[in-house]
Amino acid sequence: MPTSTLAAPRRPGAALLLPLLLLALAPARATAQGATTPLPAADQPLKVLDPAFIDRTANACADFMQYANGAWLAHDTIPAAYSSSGVTRDMSDHNELVVRSVLDDAVAQRAAQPEGSTPRKLGTFYASCMDSTAIETAGLAPLRPWLRDIDAITSRPRLVQTIAALQVSGVNLIFRYSPDVDPHDAAHYMAWLYQGGLGLPDRDYYTNTGPSADSTRDQYLEHLTRVFRLSGEPAAAATRDAHQVMRLETELAKASLTRLEQRDPAATDHPMTTASLAALAPAITWPRYFRSLGLTVPVARVNVAEPDFVRRVSALLRTAPLAQWKAYLRYHAVAESARWLSTPFVAEDFAFSAHFSGAKQLLPRWKRCLRETDGDLGEALGQAYVAKTFPPEARARARAVIDDIRAAFAERLRHLTWMSDSTRTQALGKLAQMREKVGYPDQWRDYTRLVAHDGPFILNVARANAFEWQRVVNRPGAAVDTTEWGITVPTVNAYYDPSKNEMVFPAGALVPQTFDPTADDGANYGSLGGSWAGHELTHGFDDEGRHYDAAGNLRDWWVAADSAHFTQQADLVARQFDGYIQVDTLHTNGKLTLGENIADFGGLLTGYDALEQALQRDGRPALIDGYTPEQRFFLGYAQSWRVHNRPERLRTRVTVDPHAPENWRVNGPLSNIPAFAQAFGCKPGDPMVRAADSIPHIW
Ligand SMILES: [Zn+2]
Repeated sequence: MPTSTLAAPRRPGAALLLPLLLLALAPARATAQGATTPLPAADQPLKVLDPAFIDRTANACADFMQYANGAWLAHDTIPAAYSSSGVTRDMSDHNELVVRSVLDDAVAQRAAQPEGSTPRKLGTFYASCMDSTAIETAGLAPLRPWLRDIDAITSRPRLVQTIAALQVSGVNLIFRYSPDVDPHDAAHYMAWLYQGGLGLPDRDYYTNTGPSADSTRDQYLEHLTRVFRLSGEPAAAATRDAHQVMRLETELAKASLTRLEQRDPAATDHPMTTASLAALAPAITWPRYFRSLGLTVPVARVNVAEPDFVRRVSALLRTAPLAQWKAYLRYHAVAESARWLSTPFVAEDFAFSAHFSGAKQLLPRWKRCLRETDGDLGEALGQAYVAKTFPPEARARARAVIDDIRAAFAERLRHLTWMSDSTRTQALGKLAQMREKVGYPDQWRDYTRLVAHDGPFILNVARANAFEWQRVVNRPGAAVDTTEWGITVPTVNAYYDPSKNEMVFPAGALVPQTFDPTADDGANYGSLGGSWAGHELTHGFDDEGRHYDAAGNLRDWWVAADSAHFTQQADLVARQFDGYIQVDTLHTNGKLTLGENIADFGGLLTGYDALEQALQRDGRPALIDGYTPEQRFFLGYAQSWRVHNRPERLRTRVTVDPHAPENWRVNGPLSNIPAFAQAFGCKPGDPMVRAADSIPHIW
């Protein structure tokens, strides 16, 4: 859902061994089920708007999040294996039961399926993940070939070659090669290099000062040491290697752009010839490096997203001791595989990730395996998921709401007083060309070349990553595949991709609590309309998305005065969110979360307009549970953000997440909207009514 702005299609380097850390933090819209929780267990139906969650003793004009969700929150306990509870977790629980039945069938029937068929591979892949006996028996053995290759490095050219080989298997080292959309020719792919290669979740963890930052780095050092010990190193060597890794990664971190800097598309727009790349980073023999990645097409130009970073990597490849590099490679090869190795490795991986997520215990094995299978063979199980859960009528109804949202946004654009006609025409053109993908892909991925065998699961993960790498590695110069999806069908998420000018809503997100074709318009337009469709659509015009044109090219199509107005009003949004406390004494980062907050605000305004249109068209229903359609719209929106976070997760999100905490995603934009105040009878001076001169006017 609106948790991920730019969830671009899976890229080669991002594929394998996605650390559990990221899974645990994946801006999940998760929830829980304490013993006394009014509802959400996986076998109980979710509603788009559930009156049982409302705290009618709370003042809607003082804290609307509390009013809309307080009765739920009062009884909620975050389950031990989760870092948060709420909507995403409830919806995922439902989806995962469906997916599990698909996978159980695939396992049971695999012997009867033809050798090499996709259903058989699906069963084999999942079964090998569930086969904990084989995994325990194998221990570290499946990684021995990698570790031997690393040990055998005696020269710097060999070092670069080994890095490339590990990258192909999905290990996150130094930078990441990825064929993505050419920012200046959005119809074609080009080669990109992105900064990467850190073990902590963000570069800031290496550079921040103060006791909390020191403590995190101490814990990382202990974790590094334990991973080396588990890999068989004596204590003294493990301690030494841990410091080596920390030293090297700190150098990489210092040369990395911050997340905030990366929000400016111009900051990562550096196309250059391979000759310029060679001059920038002479320690790498680029033609040989590209060949090692499996590239067989000629690469004439590369977009180096962070040139200073690549320059620094090149210097380090020449100057940092080989022993330091080898420790760094060993750590990443083992740590990023750890969650699919034997118990001691899994336990260490979990303990480290828990520092950032706050989770108290591991998810059950079947859930971990299901998620990995979905990540690697998602479109093989997506078809069965759709057949079980998402009839064509559901797709049509969801599309109808999304189309209403498009129409409402177009109306807003036509009537904006601050926007010049020149910018307006371009904006309307961009909106008209915005593609929408709803439910599931029209063409499913071909898994013919994927290989899965019985035996240690980590090898199947590596094979799946190699498959994904081969699928995309030779894309530079090729036409962009506009049919491709960047997330899988059962996923509880959605995204807008500015380089393709498209919004994508998988079937897994189009079920209650997001959307129920049988529910009233008020609830549906607040949730699917405002919180999902209006939000994603607005990303096309937020502080980042507005720099791309209708075709997805990075091009300034704004009249200067309009650009100035937008920036000035966006600054008001940033200041508003800078004022909110995220957790403890830490403030929400207004600039980092700006795009999401603009999208929430614009999504709400647009969703509200669409509701009013629908009421005019279809008639106004009687009160439901005592609420008007407008009140149900705002309640539907607020309940779509029903989330209960552990403090550790909130602390991590200050640094890594472009989304503000959910309570501010509700109270922030609503306190800027007069229609909200009107719906609930809020007066000037109430906390949910901000002063007129501080209210931004964007959409
Ligand atoms: Zn978003």
